[in-house]
Amino acid sequence: MVHLKTGEEVEIIKESAQILGKAHGEVARLVKPGVKTSALDKVAEEFIRDHGGVPSFKNYNGSFPASLCISVNEVVVHGFPGNYELREGDIIAVDCGVYYKGYHSDSAYTYPLEGAKPEILLLLERTYESLLRGIEQAKAGNRMGDVSHAIQSYVESFGYGVVRELVGHGVGKNLHEDPEVPNYGKRGKGVKLIPGMVFAIEPMINLGTKNVVQERDGWTIRTADRRPSAHFEHMVAITKEGTEVLTTHKYIEENYSYKWRNKSR
Ligand code: MG
Ligand code: MG
Repeated sequence: MVHLKTGEEVEIIKESAQILGKAHGEVARLVKPGVKTSALDKVAEEFIRDHGGVPSFKNYNGSFPASLCISVNEVVVHGFPGNYELREGDIIAVDCGVYYKGYHSDSAYTYPLEGAKPEILLLLERTYESLLRGIEQAKAGNRMGDVSHAIQSYVESFGYGVVRELVGHGVGKNLHEDPEVPNYGKRGKGVKLIPGMVFAIEPMINLGTKNVVQERDGWTIRTADRRPSAHFEHMVAITKEGTEVLTTHKYIEENYSYKWRNKSR
């Protein structure tokens, strides 16, 4: 069942998303070779709590151990921060959620470190572009399949694999609500998009096979062929006036020292 949000609720979610965006920005300052992923987690948690929020992921389902999901290279999503030190050529997906005034926000960004191969930079650029194309289709009167199809058709044209097992989702009083937002689907199919819907669109796109496996820790999802995977996520609100992107990557782009965009060309 989809919980439609009032304008007031959307405003609170935007406040939550601002804290989230700035927490991402604090993480961005630290992403570089030699940094332990646990250090990124610490900074995000402190920032969120200092600004009156609670990290949405910590203790999620009674077991997720951290405030960030940190997914390096062949890890698709749900990796744990820990003692791993980032290296030149790595890519690192940082996913974060904030709970504030009763509402969640959720967004993700994949960073390439300097030295990442051109084919991997292209994967990141195209995954980002697929997110934008999905957002463009997320409007009142369209169906979810229009969003899904826009993402899938774009990235599959490059031969990439679209992860099937994990999808985007509604967000509100719960981190994960209806509707599901698959990254694959058919135009004109799926739930109708109507004002009041708030959901996260989050393409998870693999350089190789679409197939993934879960590690024994019960959380970490990696590609079956161990080739790299990219993940970007924004939340949108469908309104009568149009679609609003609620989350922001602005602080990441401002604070990350490696200006990687268009480096693949
Ligand atoms: Mg999400
Ligand atoms: Mg997320």
